[in-house]
Amino acid sequence: MEKYDVAIIGGGSAGLAALKQLSTLGKQAVLLEAGEKVGVKNISGGILYSKKPNNGRVYNVEDIYGQNFVNEAPLQRKITQYLLHATSKDKVFSMDLTAAHEYQSNFGYSVLMNELNAWFAQSADESAQKCGGGIVPGVHVNDISWDAMQDQNFQQHSCIKVSKLL
Ligand SMILES: Cc1cc2nc3c(=O)[nH]c(=O)nc-3n(C[C@H](O)[C@H](O)[C@H](O)COP(=O)(O)OP(=O)(O)OC[C@H]3O[C@@H](n4cnc5c(N)ncnc54)[C@H](O)[C@@H]3O)c2cc1C
Repeated sequence: MEKYDVAIIGGGSAGLAALKQLSTLGKQAVLLEAGEKVGVKNISGGILYSKKPNNGRVYNVEDIYGQNFVNEAPLQRKITQYLLHATSKDKVFSMDLTAAHEYQSNFGYSVLMNELNAWFAQSADESAQKCGGGIVPGVHVNDISWDAMQDQNFQQHSCIKVSKLL
């Protein structure tokens, strides 16, 4: 049975950020993804924001992937104006939502998720491999056994059951 400090189920943006951050902290983490590769289910994109709330703290992509994120990651365009157009026959009604878009925001970029998730995965996998972990695609997690097992150092472990799809 293979043992890791942390097992992450699912290689979406959340799981990949967890893998990257845990590896940065020196934890041996493995990420199990049901798809044959990470991002295989991504079909569209949207706007990726970095926020700066007036109260509290959020972890943005650049906190996880480094302050050079916007220069290195496959981003499409920086969104500088946000207009919503409603059309009806020969009429167009436009609303300028730029102020809402810029509210407590460092930036917003349009992204294609299959490209961005592949980049997240490469970065997270490289960091994880340095700690003896990594991404294992084609594995569907069927069950998590919460019955804690104790090792000889009295440390608690949990067990996950998987089926290999490939
Ligand atoms: C149409 C649409 C438009 C959106 N637009 C935006 C936008 O513009 N900006 C924005 O920030 N967000 C947007 N979102 C939201 C964003 O896509 C989600 O918040 C984000 O993908 C959630 O990431 P996640 O890692 O939690 O989950 P997911 O991306 O859903 O990833 C979950 C992963 O877990 C895997 N998995 C599931 N079960 C198992 C299992 N049992 N074993 C192994 N692996 C498993 C799946 O294969 C998948 O890869 C949009 C969402 C949708 C649906």
